[in-house]
Amino acid sequence: MTGTNWAGNIVFSARSHARPTSISELQAVVAGSDRVRALGSGHSFNRIADTDGTQVTVAGLPRDIEIDTSKRRVRASAGLTYAELAPHLESAGLALPNLGSLPHISIAGACATGTHGSGNRNGNLATAVSAIEMVTAAGDLVELTRADGRFDGAVVALGCLGIVTRMTLDLVESFAVAQNVFEGLADESLDEHFDEIFASGYSVSVFTDFRTNRIWCKRLATDPPPGQRMFGATAAPEQRNPVPGMSAANSTMQLGVPGRWHERLPHFRPEFTPSSGSPRFARSPPTSCGSVRATTATRWGSISPGSTTRRPRCRSWTRSSNVLRRSGRDRTGARCSAHRRRRSRPSTSGCLRSVS
Ligand SMILES: Cc1cc2nc3c(=O)[nH]c(=O)nc-3n(C[C@H](O)[C@H](O)[C@H](O)COP(=O)(O)OP(=O)(O)OC[C@H]3O[C@@H](n4cnc5c(N)ncnc54)[C@H](O)[C@@H]3O)c2cc1C
Repeated sequence: MTGTNWAGNIVFSARSHARPTSISELQAVVAGSDRVRALGSGHSFNRIADTDGTQVTVAGLPRDIEIDTSKRRVRASAGLTYAELAPHLESAGLALPNLGSLPHISIAGACATGTHGSGNRNGNLATAVSAIEMVTAAGDLVELTRADGRFDGAVVALGCLGIVTRMTLDLVESFAVAQNVFEGLADESLDEHFDEIFASGYSVSVFTDFRTNRIWCKRLATDPPPGQRMFGATAAPEQRNPVPGMSAANSTMQLGVPGRWHERLPHFRPEFTPSSGSPRFARSPPTSCGSVRATTATRWGSISPGSTTRRPRCRSWTRSSNVLRRSGRDRTGARCSAHRRRRSRPSTSGCLRSVS
């Protein structure tokens, strides 16, 4: 286990670390500790995964994936990353409707914080969760499903209710996405066409360096391709990184080339370190998995760490349906004031920020 988060801006203050290899071992660790906090893949840029007690990772638990193709759902080990899970879903002809900017994050860690991708009609990653299994403070193993009145508050729980060991996620039929980047979007144009810009694709993000803006438009491959200009911005002639100056090789394929959902919805490719974190966190999955059960035979992909470089500050906007609800915006309502306010504040973090 590591003593810092991915960005290295947080040094954890945990007295001890635990990496149990079985549920019963995890239960004993939790029951025997006065304070416990789970650590996912360590990508949060604040102290949310920190504790002065025992910091526990579930990454050492058996890594199982059970795909139910008829019910379109998967029950997976909570410590798996989206990069590890997604190819197995794709092999079964299924998909998650949304993914975050990074595929490197763990399912449990992402859902615990309400991590979002983008898309006016897409929920955040936690909205796919239909059941969670967790070890609670007394060391009990409990499972909550949507039918349980306690379920909603237990999903985006910031690691406060227990150590999540397995999660069941709703799936959709696999789909293809094509991604285009448009550069030179003027502030005025962003203000004036905010709704149209975010409605222009299945998943749309806007990145800014507070001088100029860039649109990352991910449309369903079955939708018509965009032109060379969008709201005054022009199509990037070559592959880009969301962070100017960083290698475009770290980014998922653009230029309108269609690809499977998990190869286009994240901004960054799993085999590279995104933005400026530690390459340790571009984690390689094991070459074999404890168990993968699905209608099709599946194998782990090969992922290797990449290099890291410092990058300038950058910021992005993304949208998902839960974000619209949280900001009190209705479908036809006025421009989101939360977005306006946040745009005017420079980022204080060295990390790439997604602002909702
Ligand atoms: C470069 C970069 C890009 C990002 N892009 C996006 C983005 O596009 N959209 C977005 O919304 N966010 C984004 N984030 C934020 C990131 O997705 C969240 O911080 C996410 O929670 C990280 O997941 P993790 O697995 O690293 O969890 P951690 O950071 O390790 O932990 C996060 C929380 O989850 C809890 N937790 C972890 N595992 C468990 C478990 N097994 N049981 C119970 N609780 C658990 C922890 O206790 C903690 O409270 C980005 C972060 C970075 C660094």
